[in-house]
Amino acid sequence: MAYKHTIDNNLCKGCGLCVAVCPKNVLEISDQVNSMGYFPAYQARPEDCVFCTTCCIMCPDVAITITKVVEEKADQE
Ligand code: SF4
Ligand code: SF4
Repeated sequence: MAYKHTIDNNLCKGCGLCVAVCPKNVLEISDQVNSMGYFPAYQARPEDCVFCTTCCIMCPDVAITITKVVEEKADQE
């Protein structure tokens, strides 16, 4: 099963909690401001993410989501 990690730039207030709690050091704070004038978190090393959901649980603004990616198989009929 594949997963996808997404940070909503426009919800993130750049508090840095997710960066601090990530056990794999995946996240960093961007140097680009978002639409609210905050510096949002982003996945600097997405290949290291193990989809543990710790960052999602910690985010006070519910800016991070992890979704299952359904791999569709072509019908061979
Ligand atoms: S899901 Fe886990 S490993 Fe991935 S960015 Fe969040 S805290 Fe880090
Ligand atoms: S915990 Fe949430 S609001 Fe704080 S930096 Fe991470 S994504 Fe942004």
